[in-house]
Amino acid sequence: MSVSIPASAPHAIRVTRLNKHFANGRHALCDIDLQIDQGEMVALIGASGSGKSTLMRHLAGLIAADRNSASEIHINGNTVQSRGRIARDVRRVRAGVGMVFQQFNLVGRLPVLTNVLVGQLHRTHWLRSLTGWFTREERAHAIQALARVGIAQQAHQRASTLSGGQQQRAAIARTLVQQARVVLADEPIASLDPESSRRVMEILTRINREDGVTVLVSLHQVEMALRYCPRTIALSAGRVVYDGPSAALTPELLRALYGTQTDEFSGLEIGEDAQRRDSATPELAMAQAA
Ligand code: ADP
Ligand code: MG
Repeated sequence: MSVSIPASAPHAIRVTRLNKHFANGRHALCDIDLQIDQGEMVALIGASGSGKSTLMRHLAGLIAADRNSASEIHINGNTVQSRGRIARDVRRVRAGVGMVFQQFNLVGRLPVLTNVLVGQLHRTHWLRSLTGWFTREERAHAIQALARVGIAQQAHQRASTLSGGQQQRAAIARTLVQQARVVLADEPIASLDPESSRRVMEILTRINREDGVTVLVSLHQVEMALRYCPRTIALSAGRVVYDGPSAALTPELLRALYGTQTDEFSGLEIGEDAQRRDSATPELAMAQAA
């Protein structure tokens, strides 16, 4: 199934002049401007401490930007926060946003199926959600989601008995049950072995392509960004230093980003155009100067 998106559709994610100082004075996000269209799959890269998680948490409305700044965040046309104030109806907006974290965030002692059913609690009457009672249809829907991520067999096991890769797939199944139109995944493969990482990235790619779900995924591994995400946004010290095709990332930019002296990035398969390029784009020049 491929999903066509009307030209007039609002951006899936729109961030304007986002600034965040922490109480200790740290300027963690500096004038971030970005727009992500519905149906895009975008990598967010940057060294540890560059602001990836802080940006994700702002997008989810879990942290407010600087008070009285011009900071604005909209998801699917709905305000998440404006001028440092979280929207009153942020829960409603968040209902359409699936979140996936490095640490899986499942309740270990509960069955996988129950963990996944939680994804649809925002549509459940409060009495039913208190008793944890779900309809047959809801259960069937959750099993279907588990089948899509390849772990229907494990539905009745406690979540804690699953491998890390399987737990992360359950977390993705939860976003499917939630019918999230935007998925924010913060370093979802940072704790996984290469094979599990590959499966998780392939599942994210599939829900992006088949369901038209917008995916923003932060990654420490640049090669994963190159392989799975057509577009990459790179952060350095809280600023966007690159936003463009992943294929146009250069070893120079990557070295500037990660401050590495090694040739670790020279073997990466990057776009031929990028390799042939003599002069850097403004974004690249900025990154190199930083
Ligand atoms: P990343 O996810 O890219 O590793 P983070 O978003 O976690 O980076 O952190 C960005 C910067 O903000 C770091 O310098 C970090 O130390 C700082 N930071 C993050 N959270 C807080 C906080 N609650 N209070 C103060 N500083 C913070
Ligand atoms: Mg982080």
